[in-house]
Amino acid sequence: MSRVYNFSAGPAVLPEEVLKEAAAEMLDYKGTGMSVMEMSHRSKAFEEIITTAEQDIRDLMGIPDNYKVLFLQGGASQQFAMIPMNLMKNRVADYIITGQWAKKAAKEAEKYGKVNRIASSEDKTFSYIPDCSDLPVSEDADYVYICENNTIYGTKFKELPNTKGKTLVADVSSCFLSEPVDVTKYGVIYGGVQKNIGPAGVVIVIIREDLITEDVLPGTPTMLTYKTHADAKSLYNTPPAYGIYICGKVFKWIKAQGGLAAMKERNEKKAKVLYDFLDQSKLFKGTVVPKDRSLMNVPFVTGNADLDAKFVKEAKEAGLENLKGHRTVGGMRASIYNAMPYEGVVALVDFMKKFEEENL
Ligand SMILES: *Cc1c(COP(=O)(O)O)cnc(C)c1O
Repeated sequence: MSRVYNFSAGPAVLPEEVLKEAAAEMLDYKGTGMSVMEMSHRSKAFEEIITTAEQDIRDLMGIPDNYKVLFLQGGASQQFAMIPMNLMKNRVADYIITGQWAKKAAKEAEKYGKVNRIASSEDKTFSYIPDCSDLPVSEDADYVYICENNTIYGTKFKELPNTKGKTLVADVSSCFLSEPVDVTKYGVIYGGVQKNIGPAGVVIVIIREDLITEDVLPGTPTMLTYKTHADAKSLYNTPPAYGIYICGKVFKWIKAQGGLAAMKERNEKKAKVLYDFLDQSKLFKGTVVPKDRSLMNVPFVTGNADLDAKFVKEAKEAGLENLKGHRTVGGMRASIYNAMPYEGVVALVDFMKKFEEENL
């Protein structure tokens, strides 16, 4: 068996310890004689898996008691509709447009009400985060929406926007559990887990209790109502049980590494190696304004599409996989999520140095 360094943006690398544990428990989960995949979601064993997972993410993020943690399906994209359906009481919301995911979310919300795009970085191909300290937040906005880490463009909000008292809703798909977070600053935090936490098929929604009501837009399906899932503790219907089990193992793994403060330190150390190299390279160039750089997704280019393609091909041959940039931006992108070891980033930088010597 040989494993590669996988720089995929998602689904993405998971901790090897977690995969090994899951493999060891595949046929017989803790003496039950069955796999978690084969188990009733109403069984005692699964109840323990989901309650432990919830407690562990609560511990990691310091989630206050007045927030619910929901394990849902439909990916992050389903939240683009679920958020307005549940939160748009006045049918108005403000969106900050920092990339494709925020753009898609705003477009979806437009089906349900008035969407004000109060800031955007589209003028410079989303290579920075706009100043959000004094935005024209709408008087009657039900919430202000951000995509906190922009997976495709490699930018991250280092400071949350001043929402002038309005509820903040954040898509954290690609920075979930990558650093400590003050949950009280948000009304809703959500993300698909396939970037930084687990296998595709689970989306975690952390939502303040007062935002969970029966007063949703007319026609909202039962399955798309937060209250349905909050009341049933994410067991209204069959949840993505195996995915939740793996997420739970990743929460334990993060705890064992020292929690989110330790994750941040690790992630900063990894990102620094790559950004420091990019800043002095004569061939490769980072595409993001330094102050807004993501710790998770690092896009870079040579400025020559043929050379970019050659790099991606030769990197793959050297065991460094999935470095091709997003189809909408080209170039390269290294996603260096929690589970990417430091050694993986060093191997990438060593390879880039060699490639630069050979191709400059
Ligand atoms: C990947 C991604 C999405 C889309 O996630 P799906 O689960 O495929 O719907 C949304 N937002 C961000 C920030 C992402 O990185």
